[in-house]
Amino acid sequence: MKTFDDILEQSRFDRDDLKRLLDSRGAEAEKLRQRALAVKLGTLDNHVHLRGLVELSNICRKDCLYCGLRRSNTKVVRYTVSDEEVMGCARLALELGYGSMAIQCGERSDRAFTERITRLVREIKRLSDNSIGITLSCGEQSEEVYREWFEAGAHRYLLRIESSDKSLYEKIHPQDDVHDFERRLACIDSLLKTGYQTGTGVMVGLPFQTLDHLVHDLLFFQEKDVAMVGLGPFLPHPDTPLWAYREQIPSDEERMRLTLNMIATLRLMMPEINMVAATATQTLDPQGREKAVEAGANVIMPNLTPQQYREEYLIYPDKACVGDKPEQCRGCLDLRMKSIGHEILYNAWGDSVAFTKRSARQGSA
Ligand code: SAM
Ligand code: SF4
Repeated sequence: MKTFDDILEQSRFDRDDLKRLLDSRGAEAEKLRQRALAVKLGTLDNHVHLRGLVELSNICRKDCLYCGLRRSNTKVVRYTVSDEEVMGCARLALELGYGSMAIQCGERSDRAFTERITRLVREIKRLSDNSIGITLSCGEQSEEVYREWFEAGAHRYLLRIESSDKSLYEKIHPQDDVHDFERRLACIDSLLKTGYQTGTGVMVGLPFQTLDHLVHDLLFFQEKDVAMVGLGPFLPHPDTPLWAYREQIPSDEERMRLTLNMIATLRLMMPEINMVAATATQTLDPQGREKAVEAGANVIMPNLTPQQYREEYLIYPDKACVGDKPEQCRGCLDLRMKSIGHEILYNAWGDSVAFTKRSARQGSA
């Protein structure tokens, strides 16, 4: 019978090992996180990469049962950040030394929207003389659209699978053509094929979610060989259908523990990927992002969205840092990372080492 310490020394893990790691608590969970931190420091150093986040629009054609931006939520005042304001964010990113931006929004697939993204990506690239790297997180699109955005200059894309288990995915989405598990999977494959540094991820602590589901998610990330993962705790929103199940989900502390164990276990499985310390972790715990970085995450997404829109991009309630000005945010993050022995790398794209190495192997094959 393997001990917990035996499992920690392995570089490959079976389902039982993963379940043991995810279920760890107390001193064992501490050991898991310390081991993940050591693996990260040995592989990626103590560097943290930034993605200046623009929450471009809260208009969404989807109705995900967990998200405050879902189209049926009539309490949301819908907005779109103007082109001039987006370029203002890009100038701010340059000024603050953020080497990359992330553009995130509700999902739209009409041509006016997809062309606008193409234009914005090109303009940010032109304005910054290609010095700003761009991550998009604009939902499910056709392969042609993904290619168009890639050719315009976006080189990373984040599309969380939300849950890699089809039946759980179907429980947290409406049963219709707009919310289709197979299509979401196909989109991830299209992104990989197009050449993006592709990121995916899940919410942790969803209603109906078990440890086996989370183990399945970890194996899914590995099987897809993704370059980045963004995972964070599920936070129930009062204006969504999943609010009714809030008593049935693990406590805040439990969801935090599970999220950190997911991050740490994944760092052991995929030492070279980029992993986001999600803002959602800080909503559950004031030290959430630091804890995520200490458990193996290496990317943070400080918010650049113009202040007047932020209160309307509440995918979940009580979002952390909504009132912070970008200049404050930069100083605060710098201090927070230094306090845990980490260093923010400014003026760098901060690409995924996993992706760069894989591309080099493919190039020399
Ligand atoms: N619309 C795009 C999409 O869904 O891929 C991108 C924006 S969406 C707001 C970004 C992520 O927010 C989703 O992938 C989901 O995992 C997360 N999210 C939505 N509602 C949430 C909630 N209640 N708690 C935690 N995360 C949530
Ligand atoms: Fe729209 Fe994304 Fe929210 Fe789903 S998670 S409702 S696609 S913004």
